[in-house]
Amino acid sequence: MAVKYDPYENVVSVMEKAMEVGSIKKDMFEIIKNPQRETKVYLPVEMDDGTVRVFEGYRVQHSNIRGPFKGGIRYHQDCDLNEVKALATWMSLKCSVVNIPYGGAKGGVKVDPHTLSQRELCRLTRRYTYAIEPIIGADSDIPAPDINTNAQTMAWVLDTYSMLKGKPCPGVVTGKPVELGGSKGRASATGRGVVISTKLILNEYGIELKGRKIAIQGMGNVGGNAARIFYHREAVIVALSDISGGIYCKNGLNADSISEYIEGGGLLKDYDAPDVLHISNQEILTCECDVLVPAALENQINEDIAENLKCKFIVEGANGPTTEKGDEVLEKKGISLIPDIFANSGGVIVSYFEWVQNIQTLTWEKSQVNEMLENIMTKAFMEMKAEKNKSGCSFRMAAYIIALRRLIHAEEIKGIFP
Ligand code: GLU
Repeated sequence: MAVKYDPYENVVSVMEKAMEVGSIKKDMFEIIKNPQRETKVYLPVEMDDGTVRVFEGYRVQHSNIRGPFKGGIRYHQDCDLNEVKALATWMSLKCSVVNIPYGGAKGGVKVDPHTLSQRELCRLTRRYTYAIEPIIGADSDIPAPDINTNAQTMAWVLDTYSMLKGKPCPGVVTGKPVELGGSKGRASATGRGVVISTKLILNEYGIELKGRKIAIQGMGNVGGNAARIFYHREAVIVALSDISGGIYCKNGLNADSISEYIEGGGLLKDYDAPDVLHISNQEILTCECDVLVPAALENQINEDIAENLKCKFIVEGANGPTTEKGDEVLEKKGISLIPDIFANSGGVIVSYFEWVQNIQTLTWEKSQVNEMLENIMTKAFMEMKAEKNKSGCSFRMAAYIIALRRLIHAEEIKGIFP
């Protein structure tokens, strides 16, 4: 029987390996390994038909050694405390590898939001915010969007929190609407970061982005925005998928019109255009392409799928899409992978810019935000590359080594309380 994939076990095991490869002193590792706080809440919500349902919610605060806890809120039917624990750990590593002054956290509610009305979602979000209100705040823990949550969800979190405090508290969440203090460029930032990562790795091989064949799994905020930006930079999007299925066109798909179709409520299984073929989720991953962007959920590229991949590069838009065993196969096959904690860091980097603007009551132009994002990612990429060359390891190992070194160094100079 196949062993059940455990994302937290996976991240801990990769961290342990990085400690070895990077010869990092292990004294403080137990602290970094375990989250600082795990919160579980039960959320009674009145449905539109008058019945009451109780949902389970979580907030895991992994580390605040390098700055306030930071990380998104996910709504998904398969969400559980263990997954949120892994996601919170990845946030600490992510903020550390790109060197922004945040720790890591993650929140989640076990719910399929597609089965709820907008008003039910609003009540659920407000009740969840109320439940975690004592542990969040602009200087303590700052939520943001993640899978199935968006700027509207953040507007509800912001309003509920501000009502409870009796004053506007724009810095308590990021990824909120621009009209409520959100940052220009935040909505597309994770997708933009995926494209920047792709450009950086292709550049290492002297390859241009223009004309490269890209396959993207997932058309949510990350995949959808990455697709559009790739398309505008004249890359050829050969395959795309959403929860309903995938589409393929060897001459390239029009990401603009497909995004519009999805925004209008369309599902890719029903999408129709000349030369477009319908393919399965597995075929998205294994199709012929230069760059594969998994931008959906964890545990997509395991050892079996990895054996069948035909891409040359993988840029991880999702958190945790590749298993540890999958990684081993990719290395053996010589597929170059840019790891999630770097590749999808664009979101939290621009969240940081949003928070800085809120605290200083400033507003920045989109061009300024995009330029600063590219600068931070390019610098972090160079550091990752230098570590990769020094330790003779993969980009994932290099990213983990840098992130862990910073976290452990911070722990050492801070010391243990009391
Ligand atoms: N949910 C995003 C992530 O996984 C963004 C987090 C944030 O902006 O705080 O990185």
